[in-house]
Amino acid sequence: MFDKIVIANRGEIALRVLRACRELGIKTVAVHSSADRELKHVRLADESVCIGPPPSGESYLNIPALISAAEVTDAVAIHPGYGFLSENADFAERVEQSGFVFIGPRPDTIRLMGDKVSAKDAMHKAGVPCVPGSDGPLGEDDETNLRLAREVGYPVIIKAAGGGGGRGMRVVHTEAHLLAAIALTRTEAESAFRNSTVYMEKFLENPRHVEIQVLADEHGNAIYLGERDCSMQRRHQKVIEEAPAPGITEEQRSRIGERCAQACRDIGYRGAGTFEFLYEDGEFYFIEMNTRVQVEHPVTEMITGVDIVKEQIRIAAGHPLSYRQEDIVLRGHAIECRINAEDPKNFMPSPGTITQLHFPGGPGVRVDSHIYDGYKVPPYYDSMIGKLITHGETREVALARMRTALDESVIEGIKTNIPLHQELLRDAGFMGGGTNIHYLEKKLGI
Ligand code: ADP
Repeated sequence: MFDKIVIANRGEIALRVLRACRELGIKTVAVHSSADRELKHVRLADESVCIGPPPSGESYLNIPALISAAEVTDAVAIHPGYGFLSENADFAERVEQSGFVFIGPRPDTIRLMGDKVSAKDAMHKAGVPCVPGSDGPLGEDDETNLRLAREVGYPVIIKAAGGGGGRGMRVVHTEAHLLAAIALTRTEAESAFRNSTVYMEKFLENPRHVEIQVLADEHGNAIYLGERDCSMQRRHQKVIEEAPAPGITEEQRSRIGERCAQACRDIGYRGAGTFEFLYEDGEFYFIEMNTRVQVEHPVTEMITGVDIVKEQIRIAAGHPLSYRQEDIVLRGHAIECRINAEDPKNFMPSPGTITQLHFPGGPGVRVDSHIYDGYKVPPYYDSMIGKLITHGETREVALARMRTALDESVIEGIKTNIPLHQELLRDAGFMGGGTNIHYLEKKLGI
């Protein structure tokens, strides 16, 4: 096993990785910006290194600073967490070229999956069902593109191959708008992602977001850990996630899960990963793969008992998977609410000092958060300050425990979205299960 790991992230995921390292007997190095000296994991880590000023471009995205932090501390491996450099193939490559282990897939796999056109192509070849569309980049010929859209059927969506975070997409409802939309998306994609490649997909009108968690090792083993439903979204940002997805049958789960595991074997995938699908009328349509640990991984951990972060680290150290597919048994239901430092009405970030903090507890309650009494939420980063996860024998029990947990939570001094969660956990539509990706925005009137 590794002797020492650099945790190249901040906030709750850095703490999550630190906890996994502790259990595995691995020493930790926290790297942090000058605004993050007081982060909980920085205090708990064996060593810490300041890697730059507050803006993430000069700290958490500063590749040379991260590599030198590993060098000066004699670390062996780097865990990227999620966000920041976690899906940056150049970073993974630099880490490996500098003689460290990148805890994640090989750089060429990250590159393959980072381009949505090549990712879709690879998944299509591996037998994973995809959204019907252009089967590759759109060319320059207007007539061909018009014909293609007619074949696919309106509405269609034009997407940037290099897009991410819900940016670089445009829905087209009628033929009259198609060519302008393609041109505009191309221009935007070029300036935002320095890649003007765009492609076309059928726009699914009322899908749910259902994703499959996988684990794969370097010895050709790959398993799936069931699915998560992340349909409760605002501006493509997930707000609540749950596992399993309401209404998905065991047969559907094993069929799509096995497809994903097989795709991992086909492309020689290594580490934890997530296949994201849109799910409509009983069918799964692949949209993208995330080659890292996800924010919502705890709901899968709660129903499978698998520690995904520990498995990531073990896989990176060359161990075979600790589980075979038949070892994976789903137990009960888990729900996660993302707690953000933001105004629950207008969603404006609300940084500041936490003057009073009480986290909930009791059976089936898990809190993944780095905040503490007196902690100052800095204004420079993502507003998520933690995650509340509940587990129960049934969805109803998990929901009831989440309502109690939210009502018990006290976070004073800043605004949080807890009131929004309290409302959603009492919403008849959500309680019924299986709402689609537009449900939350419609409810909010946006
Ligand atoms: P990103 O990498 O920016 O998150 P995705 O390809 O994962 O982009 O798409 C983000 C979101 O955009 C999806 O969760 C869904 O809400 C919407 N979307 C993307 N493709 C389609 C499609 N073909 N039909 C309907 N909605 C789509």
